[in-house]
Amino acid sequence: MEKYYDVLIMGAGPAGLAAAITVKESAPQLSVLLLEKKEQAAKKLRAAGNGRGNLSNSRCEDLEEVLRFFSQNGIAVRLDSEGRIYPYSEEADAVAEALLNRARGLGVEIYTGIKVRDAKAADGKGFRVFFAAESGAGSGASGSSAAASVGRAGAFSDNAGAEIALDCARFLITSGGKSFAAYGSTGDGYGLARALGHNVSALVPALTAVEVAEDLRPLRGVRAKGIVSLFSGGDLAFQESGEIQFREDALSGICVMNLSSQLPASQHDFAGLKIMINLVPDFEAAGLIDFLRAKQKLPGQSAGSLLETLVKRPLADAVLRAAALEKGAAAASLSAADLVRIANALRGFTLTPTGRKGWKEAQVTRGGVALAEVNQKTLASLIAPGLYFAGEVLDYDGPCGGYNLHHAWLTGIRAGRAMAQSFSAPSGD
Ligand SMILES: Cc1cc2nc3c(=O)[nH]c(=O)nc-3n(C[C@H](O)[C@H](O)[C@H](O)COP(=O)(O)OP(=O)(O)OC[C@H]3O[C@@H](n4cnc5c(N)ncnc54)[C@H](O)[C@@H]3O)c2cc1C
Repeated sequence: MEKYYDVLIMGAGPAGLAAAITVKESAPQLSVLLLEKKEQAAKKLRAAGNGRGNLSNSRCEDLEEVLRFFSQNGIAVRLDSEGRIYPYSEEADAVAEALLNRARGLGVEIYTGIKVRDAKAADGKGFRVFFAAESGAGSGASGSSAAASVGRAGAFSDNAGAEIALDCARFLITSGGKSFAAYGSTGDGYGLARALGHNVSALVPALTAVEVAEDLRPLRGVRAKGIVSLFSGGDLAFQESGEIQFREDALSGICVMNLSSQLPASQHDFAGLKIMINLVPDFEAAGLIDFLRAKQKLPGQSAGSLLETLVKRPLADAVLRAAALEKGAAAASLSAADLVRIANALRGFTLTPTGRKGWKEAQVTRGGVALAEVNQKTLASLIAPGLYFAGEVLDYDGPCGGYNLHHAWLTGIRAGRAMAQSFSAPSGD
């Protein structure tokens, strides 16, 4: 174990791995140390896309740069009909393993079960980074072949918690955001960034379920395909189609998670917000009224049966409640105005957002290290020479669909390349 590294990277997620690999590919002579807090590297990547790993999207900027990284590192990918890019085998875990093996093969030193605690700039000569073995790390095997191929915390100290310091010339923070702490991202990088002189914008859970005021218990477990819209003071603020999942106190589904990113940071600013769901997006208003009117004429219909086959039954009940009608009322007794109210409730099922599910459920963090303080081409800090950031620790959050992993790969690759080049041309920062 060296006491000095050319490059020290905090966090072995997708951004850290991409950076470590790129440094060694660009400048094999440089020594690179990758420290990971969890007992297994890249836990969030392994869970991404329900284990399938939506790695990127054909609509992402600078896609070629990321695809080249995949192909250079033997990651086979496939594109689905909506532009999402997955590993060909649809196993995110295999991507993590492949990248860990590649990094090891290139000579990156990787240690798991090590938490970076602090870093101090050393008078323009790089950084002193302080870290400690997490308790329980260093002895047990996690059962993964990646864990077997990386160093364990015990290489530094048998004493969990004892602080160790190493010096490095370049320090890259790739510790991720603050959500899904079980995968290792607990916001540690923000504190270090602040201590090293950076501003961190307000941190908000994003891509998460949205809580509503209405009692959704009768709808619990229902899934419906529709268009979800967010209105702010009557103005359309966001709209997306997709599957909406009803939980007892919240809405979920990809389109709702994307909507959650458009909500104000503070719940105090939710006044005047409404969510409207078009439950029958294939019907024009007039066509829907015609359908209801024609069905009304069939013998033996009730208000409830008018909606059968249009929406699932619990939703039909809720729509009729919204239209102030009894489901058992004879259809023949409904007026033209009643039918319009039903159609309006079907096309604009309205709910009042009151909050969002927090850090435990959010897929990403909105906010982070201020982008204005980081060179967007090199990811170098504009405040502390030799410091770099990549991935979710930066103030970036994209929608569902591969955008967040794409950002982690792209910024990791660029930081890695820039760090390697900075040794031959330090002014390149
Ligand atoms: C359930 C879930 C599913 C997702 N699915 C997708 C998807 O399919 N497509 C998509 O684009 N995005 C997805 N995302 C988001 C995406 O996974 C993240 O944006 C991405 O992993 C960020 O990469 P990163 O390398 O910046 O950070 P992370 O992946 O969070 O990695 C950071 C690493 O740093 C380590 N670390 C943290 N603090 C320290 C410390 N003090 N010392 C040492 N190490 C530390 C962490 O343990 C972690 O391994 C998903 C997120 C979740 C939670």
